[in-house]
Amino acid sequence: MRSRFRCPRCGAALTSWLRELELADALNLHMSHTWSLPSRWFVRRDSPLLRGSLLTEPASYPWLLAPSMKWLRIHADGARTIGCCGLAHYGPELPNLVCACGHEIGLGYRDCIGPYWFSLHASAVREEAVDAAPLQRLAERLTGLRARVAGPVARTGYDPGGRGAWHHDTTTWDDATRLNEVALDCGGGVDDPAITITSPQLPAGAQLVVPLPWCQLVRLVVLCEKPWAETSSPLRWQNGEQPRVSVSRHRRRVLLTAWGKGDASWAVTFEVRAWAGAWAGLRG
Ligand SMILES: [Zn+2]
Ligand SMILES: [Zn+2]
Repeated sequence: MRSRFRCPRCGAALTSWLRELELADALNLHMSHTWSLPSRWFVRRDSPLLRGSLLTEPASYPWLLAPSMKWLRIHADGARTIGCCGLAHYGPELPNLVCACGHEIGLGYRDCIGPYWFSLHASAVREEAVDAAPLQRLAERLTGLRARVAGPVARTGYDPGGRGAWHHDTTTWDDATRLNEVALDCGGGVDDPAITITSPQLPAGAQLVVPLPWCQLVRLVVLCEKPWAETSSPLRWQNGEQPRVSVSRHRRRVLLTAWGKGDASWAVTFEVRAWAGAWAGLRG
């Protein structure tokens, strides 16, 4: 089955059609600066998959989603939304996400302690439909990815510069090196994975090394998630002390930024089709 959630006041869609996530490998229960789950999926807060994490509360907002500004809006009252560096919430009595009609319907978190998530109040209307094209061979693809990621990665990545590029200000994107053709591989093992990016637009022999959590690699390769999000809420991940990575799309370009210590901060842009094609290549 697939589900879509609607506003109980005006009937507008609050999400696209979502599948219920059952693949534990794709969930992030504890890591900061990383989405709790992939974008085209939802999890109920009472799911056994969330046991032992802080994501089981508040129960009055039972539908847990990836953060996306496509359907929901941030509440206009800053006292409900402002954290130390991102969107925070101040409890179930003070919803910080609204429908386009203004109805208070959601709770969201994109601050620095713990996973990023959005959730919907129990009053949101749930619509259900048969899944016409369910994802196939998940177990087989997961096994294939485990084998592929097992190889080593040379951790000295090339530094392409581009530190002046910001997701929300697309006029700064030209500061980043533009890669028109790219190829991807992965390695480092399940505990410390990274993707490597090669391109004819990089110096001969150079590769970019982008660490990512295993759950994020599973989302992109096994669940075929879109490898970017909106400039207002970029796809984001971080693995321990490694650089924080954000990916967003504007028109036909994708910006990838890595924020870390010293030369671990850099940015590049891709042609949308080249970046999507490189992920399709990694999926095999
Ligand atoms: Zn509404
Ligand atoms: Zn913060």
